[in-house]
Amino acid sequence: MHELVRRLYPLCRSITGDGVRRTLEIVSEYLPLDTYEVPTGTEVFDWTVPREWNISDAYIASEGRRVVDFQASNLHVVGYSTPVAATMSLAELRGHLHTLPEQPSLIPYRTSYYAENWGFCLTQETLDGMPDGEYEVRIDSTLDDGHLTYAEHVVPGQVTDEVIVSCHTCHPSLANDNLAGIAVAVALARSLENPFYTYRFLFMPGTIGAITWLARNADRIEKVKHGLVLACAGDAGHLTYKKSRRGDAEIDRVLAYVLREREHEIVEFSPYGYDERQFCSPGFNLGVGSLSRTPYARYPEYHTSGDNPDFVLPEKLADTLSACQQAFSVLDRDRRYVNLSPYGEPQLGKRGLYDALGGRSDAKQAQLAMLWVLNLSDGEHSLLDIAERSGLPFDTIADAARALHDAALLKE
Ligand code: ZN
Repeated sequence: MHELVRRLYPLCRSITGDGVRRTLEIVSEYLPLDTYEVPTGTEVFDWTVPREWNISDAYIASEGRRVVDFQASNLHVVGYSTPVAATMSLAELRGHLHTLPEQPSLIPYRTSYYAENWGFCLTQETLDGMPDGEYEVRIDSTLDDGHLTYAEHVVPGQVTDEVIVSCHTCHPSLANDNLAGIAVAVALARSLENPFYTYRFLFMPGTIGAITWLARNADRIEKVKHGLVLACAGDAGHLTYKKSRRGDAEIDRVLAYVLREREHEIVEFSPYGYDERQFCSPGFNLGVGSLSRTPYARYPEYHTSGDNPDFVLPEKLADTLSACQQAFSVLDRDRRYVNLSPYGEPQLGKRGLYDALGGRSDAKQAQLAMLWVLNLSDGEHSLLDIAERSGLPFDTIADAARALHDAALLKE
């Protein structure tokens, strides 16, 4: 995962353009993708797919020497900057310069997608070292009719009901936000084997990408039963789960259950953040939450050149991946059953259900799990409810339910 973060880091991504395409090409070396190109001007709900932005070079130069150089960091150019070729004084240029005075050695990340503008981002230290005088300013960018690019990878399940996992692909050289999310999504998709649900992984630009995907899939959105937005998935902080708008969706309960074993934080839904904003808009109101480590804007490196591959830790990527795998394992096995022999306890011995457990070191726990499942399987309680109420591990409860189901004592 960390190697993928490093490979993708240098590319100049935005909400459209060749940086996104190249990113998806590299991802497709690890995970087969279906890539979609949606033309500029396409109406998607209240939005319109914008013109495509590409950039080859940009700089601010003084006496032929580059003071600010796009080739050194693509953060130096405000995303979606219009082309410029001019000479101007520092005083004229200042209105187009962005720095972080409180973090003088970091380059900020800025965009101007929907207002035509241009600008440069640089460290305060660089700006402080720029004497008054004339500067050559150049941005070799294009804003033309083109496409918005996004991709999907589908892991077919035993049922066509879907779980969506989405991550945004629109940030340039920023690692935790969101190459870490992309890397975890890739590893997660690769690790799913014959799942119950169909898992659809979405790699798309923030906001406009999610809105475009929803607009193009509105007629089949009822298939989406659960979802998770992955962002900021690799920093040193603990995991943070942001609930869906519903607040009590199954995914919310599953994540709360899985994260109990770890240092973590659970926060309520808010209509800000990443693409949960779109999935949880009132017209859809999907059971989609968001998993991060330190949430956006809560770490000083957020949206700055400090969010580089060294800020992302391999062991934290692995921890985020493992939490997702555990969550989907629970989600995939969670069911509601009805006890078909509810008048007194059914006799387990004559059905071989004690023998089935013979020799297991956790036989006693497994037996207890059967009693809990039989007792609470009244159609009202899910296996997750039973795991929570009994205090027994979910896997033990799910195994017991399978054995009881096979013995015709439970009906789904
Ligand atoms: Zn961001």
